[in-house]
Amino acid sequence: MKSGVVFDIREFALHDGPGIRTTVFLKGCPLRCSWCHNPDGWIRDPQIIHGQAGDRLIGKDYTSEELAALLNEQADILRANEGGVTFSGGEPLEQAEFVTEVCDRLDNLHIVFDTSGDGTETALRLVAEKVDLFYYDLKLIDSTAHRHFTGADNAPILSNLRLLSSLGASFVIRVPLVPGVTDTDENLNAIAETVRNLPGLVRVDLLPYNRAAGGKYSNLGLKFCPLYDEQRELRLNAEPFERHRVPVRIAASDMPIRKPVPA
Ligand code: SF4
Repeated sequence: MKSGVVFDIREFALHDGPGIRTTVFLKGCPLRCSWCHNPDGWIRDPQIIHGQAGDRLIGKDYTSEELAALLNEQADILRANEGGVTFSGGEPLEQAEFVTEVCDRLDNLHIVFDTSGDGTETALRLVAEKVDLFYYDLKLIDSTAHRHFTGADNAPILSNLRLLSSLGASFVIRVPLVPGVTDTDENLNAIAETVRNLPGLVRVDLLPYNRAAGGKYSNLGLKFCPLYDEQRELRLNAEPFERHRVPVRIAASDMPIRKPVPA
């Protein structure tokens, strides 16, 4: 039986897929996005963080049986609210075999898989057999900019997206809007052109920048050093998608949103 490392389980989540959901955050991510607000999800192994309330262990091992049993306890309420379970991270493709074992043990629950797409083709094929809906992040289409702001090449991410589409999966594209980085006309237009004809596309969600992104870093002994100007006005620009007839929406956010400004 597989075991996995989970760093959070959020109940009654409203923005992680249809209906009311329980979201499982899996540890380990190959990217280092400059705007990441979950640096506690980067390292696969459990780790100690030093908060004001003292030291705390982040990350807990579960067997697939343990995690499925915990999620199945909520199955009635999740189904009654047209929700289900969402696997997020970190990057859940890093623990694909564990996730698929958990899925096999779930009691008829709708499954969303929230991924950056940066994983092996084998891992993606494995989870695609179990998942009802993918939330798939696209950040930057320009490969040089992607490497600069995330530390990784975007070629495998774009290739995996085409694979997912060819496998008949349904997916929502999620674009984190980072001021002056991902929210430019050029980038949003390139994303619209990349996804507009892909079978399986449900819609594009634009995610307003999280201005609390740096909140967790100091507890991990890290310094939040965004490679962009956090104070720059964020552009909430759906026009490139509308022009390409791609369904688009501004995703719900708990964070204050600044008004759009002209280019
Ligand atoms: S993919 Fe997500 S978890 Fe990984 S570094 Fe980027 S924002 Fe953070």
